[in-house]
Amino acid sequence: DLLQGFEFAGIPSRVVFGAGTLAQAGAEVERLGHKRALVLTTPGQADDGAALARALGDLTAGTFFDAAMHTPVEVTQDALAHFRAVGADCVVALGGGSTIGLGKAIALHTGADQVVIPTTYAGSEMTDILGQTDKGAKTTQRGPEIRPETVIYDVDLTLGLPAAMTVTSALNAVAHAVEGLYAPDGNPILSMMGVAGIRAIRDGLPALRDAPTDRDARADVLYGAWLCSTVLGHVSMALHHKLAHVLGGSFGLPHAETHAILLPHTAGFNAQATAAQLAPVAEMFGGSVGGGLWDFARDAGAPLRLQDLGLTKADLDRAAQIATQNPYHNPRPFDAADIRTLLQAAWEGTRPD
Ligand code: NAD
Repeated sequence: DLLQGFEFAGIPSRVVFGAGTLAQAGAEVERLGHKRALVLTTPGQADDGAALARALGDLTAGTFFDAAMHTPVEVTQDALAHFRAVGADCVVALGGGSTIGLGKAIALHTGADQVVIPTTYAGSEMTDILGQTDKGAKTTQRGPEIRPETVIYDVDLTLGLPAAMTVTSALNAVAHAVEGLYAPDGNPILSMMGVAGIRAIRDGLPALRDAPTDRDARADVLYGAWLCSTVLGHVSMALHHKLAHVLGGSFGLPHAETHAILLPHTAGFNAQATAAQLAPVAEMFGGSVGGGLWDFARDAGAPLRLQDLGLTKADLDRAAQIATQNPYHNPRPFDAADIRTLLQAAWEGTRPD
């Protein structure tokens, strides 16, 4: 409702999107006025990190290839020591949400600028959000110094993203946009971006099941991931992200898979209170938000049951209890019993309405 008004601060990050854009990393470092980059990635992407460090030449001050899921504070301490030891003046983060999280943590401590090159669809790159773990406890914070200055999307870097990760990561992106559509601090521009992001992923993802190196489809999905990440970077999240946070933080479930399995259930649950906002989603997925997203996920080859991620039936009560301990905004009110029912369905993998 436009008469309710809205606020929009604009999109602060510079974005370079295309194929082969990795070659622009050095120019982007220089554009920010920097000369000594610490190149970051995970052990699994160390070869790509080393190649990037070589390509950056004199702009590389050092490398740190030990980024890990959920930004453990011990890893950040090691990386910070290295950042200082080599006299770095910025970070270049090449990888998924884990690597990007490490770059954000370094920026939070040092004020360093970040050039981020995402290789998954998780969508941390456009946000001012940092999740960290300390002795197994995960906390999240937001702040302007956390948001990367420059993001380089290179479609070619996603061609080798494994099939399973492709699907779950893309659904992780869709979840950002879905929650953005009913966020109290959303606006018409972000809704437009969210709908376009979901549509690009809906259009691109099915082709990747049989042809994972289809560059047009990869471009669609990465473009969609950018839009969904931008939405995530500007709005508050609700039930879906809360449940994913609880299952990841307190039960150690893998990030992208958990999002993928929960999405049809959380979106279906909230659709009953947000029919107008989620109408474009229903329209895109055959008329039903929850059922349509579930069919899409199944056809794309996504996991459908939380029990397959190692969550036990006994965990469900505790998960529902943790998820309802502290109140937070959600468009549809709920109690612990509602969440227990929702989790049971996601655990069994039944199709929501
Ligand atoms: P990830 O970064 O942990 O990557 C998973 C694995 O895939 C890693 O081993 C990585 O090296 C590998 N990989 C990544 N890209 C690849 C590619 N193109 N080809 C081959 N292998 C590749 O996983 P993720 O799902 O991208 O990120 C999850 C993390 O990001 C979680 O910790 C989550 O909390 C965080 N996250 C944060 C935000 C935020 O806004 N703060 C948003 C989304 C996710």
